[in-house]
Formats: sequence, C-alpha cells, structure tokens
Amino acid sequence: MTPFSNRITRLFSIDYPIIQAGMIWASGWRLASAVSNSGGLGVIGAGSMYPDVLRAHIQKYKQASTRPFGVNLPLLYPDIDKHIDIIIQEKVPIVFTSAGNPSLWTPRLKAAGIIVVHVISSAKFARKAEAAGCDAVVAEGFEAGGHNGREETTTLVLVPAVCSAVSIPVIAAGGIANGRQMFATMVLGAEGVQMGSRFVACEEASSHPLFKEKVISSQEGDTKLSLKKLTPVRLLDNEFARQVQAAEASGADTETLQQLLGRGRAKKGMFEGDMAEGELEIGQVSALLHDILPAATIVRNTWNEFQQALAHPLGS
Ligand code: NDP
Repeated sequence: MTPFSNRITRLFSIDYPIIQAGMIWASGWRLASAVSNSGGLGVIGAGSMYPDVLRAHIQKYKQASTRPFGVNLPLLYPDIDKHIDIIIQEKVPIVFTSAGNPSLWTPRLKAAGIIVVHVISSAKFARKAEAAGCDAVVAEGFEAGGHNGREETTTLVLVPAVCSAVSIPVIAAGGIANGRQMFATMVLGAEGVQMGSRFVACEEASSHPLFKEKVISSQEGDTKLSLKKLTPVRLLDNEFARQVQAAEASGADTETLQQLLGRGRAKKGMFEGDMAEGELEIGQVSALLHDILPAATIVRNTWNEFQQALAHPLGS
C-alpha cells in the first residue's frame, strides 16, 4: 500500500490517516503498537489507567514499536497532573485530550514539544481548541460510543461545520468503521478518521472477549445515549442500560442515577466481562461489525476500501 500525504499524515508522521481512538479498558500498548506498526496511529487510552499503569503501557509500547503513537487523556480524569508528568517524562509524541477545557493543559504539553489534538462535539468547542493552540481536532459525532456531546450533532453535520469553523486539520469520528465511510467524511473536509468501535472488535484490544462478541452480534438500535443528567454516554443494550433508561423515564434525579451507576461499572462490563450488570460503551456503527479482526487487517481493509471509493465514488 502506497503511503498517503496530507496535513494529518505529515503532522503525525504516519502512512495512512487512520487513527485508533483511545478507549478505556480496550486500548493498551498491544492494540496501539499493532495499529502504528500497520501505518496508522495507535493511541493508548489513559482514562482507565492509574499513573503507574500508564507508564508501564508507554514503556511496553516503546519495546513493541518505534513508530509514533498517542495517549488519550480525558481531562476529567482524577490524577491528570500525574498523567501529564508521565507523558512529558516518557516523551510521548502526541496527546489526544477529551472531555474538558483544552486551554488548561495544552500550553504545558506544547511547551514540552508534544503535538496536541482535542476531541470536540461542536464548532464552538473546535474554535476554542484552535485558540488554545491545538494542532488538530477530532470532530466526534453523535454516533460515537462512550462519552458524547450534549448537542447530539451527527458526524454528517458536525464535520462540515467544524471544517468551516477552524483552519487546523479536522479528523472525523463517530460512526466510521470502513473505508467508504472514511471517504464520505473526507469529501466533507476531514483529513483523517478516528475509529473506536471497529478497534474494540479487534484481536489486540484488551476489552473482554465476551464484550467483543456482544459488539459484533449487536443490531441497529441497540445503542442509546444515556445518563444525560450526569455525563452523556452511549451504552449498548443490557440489563444495566435498561435499568438506567427506566430510572430516567421515571424522572430520577442526578443523585439516584449516580447511585445506580456506582463505581467501576465500565471496568465490570468491558474489562471483566459482566455482560448483564456492566457498563458497555460502544458506537452505533457496532451494528455494521460482524467480525473480530487483527489490527493490521482493519487498517489494510479500511485503506483499500478508501482507495476503491476514491477510484469509483459512485460505485461501479
Ligand atoms: P468510575 O469512577 O466508575 O471508576 C473508576 C475506574 O477507573 C475504576 O475501575 C478504576 O480502576 C479506574 N481508575 C484508573 N485510574 C484511576 C484513578 N486515578 N482514580 C480512580 N480510579 C481510577 O469511572 P469510569 O469507569 O466511568 O471512568 C473512568 C475514567 O475513564 C474517567 O477518567 C472517565 O473520564 C474516563 N472515561 C472516558 C470515556 C471516553 O469516552 N473518553 C468514557 C468513559 C469514561 P480500579 O477498579 O482498578 O480501581
């Protein structure tokens, strides 16, 4: 496969503008290095890692790959300053920040020579990220799994809105799992894609095998945006998700919802494999996934499909 050149591949020094999302409990060094070694950009998801665990993953990554990689850092993480120190000490080249104000940490990361990308869900936040000095933004639409914007703007609307609002490069995310979808978002102005759900159903992902199986057997309509009164999150249907929906339908207040959620639900579901009572975060596009593949195959398939779409945009 011939390497491609645009602002995103040049910014990250990668071959194809395909980025693996940093996802809690799914994306450690094994997944990130497999994606980067295939020519995309692998990202370690720090949100579910204690500081010493993050350091260990970064060090193992460096043993497994010499290619660039990123760390995703949710800004509402409790030990964020320790994570930032480790990222700087370990010379992580790229950081994806999400779920918070980009002006807080971007200057410190930039001063350390780190490329900073912020995940946003509206044109307004994209402008803030650009003003804060970010090098690129990920425009993540309503289809996405996990934490999600309150505005509920879909990728098809969000990407062109963000591309008009900022001059830094835009990476599209939310609802993308193949090269034809990638092509569609690049026609809208994106210069790369970030895929999460596709890389959950991946051999190298650290998510529990039962979760991967549940993801590839899910159907259209099986994910719903929930917990809008706390932090909006797209959940896959199970007993826990139905309890949340019932509580929300009966007008439960934030305290009741917080009690229902408890602590460690996401770990219980996605990492420990409790498919009934755990929190299962995945995007709408899971309905299009039918197989668990190696990361290298996902990158290759996506790029080949993109090239085919480019050659025959209206089909054959
Ligand atoms: P909970 O409060 O329910 O549980 C915290 C979990 O995170 C525990 O399982 C704990 O592991 C683990 N953990 C890792 N580091 C720490 C730390 N420094 N302090 C406390 N717990 C830690 O949170 P969630 O599981 O809902 O979310 C965890 C993190 O992931 C948050 O930072 C959140 O912002 C982020 N997140 C990001 C998402 C995204 O889409 N970007 C989606 C959902 C969450 P252990 O059980 O081993 O103690």
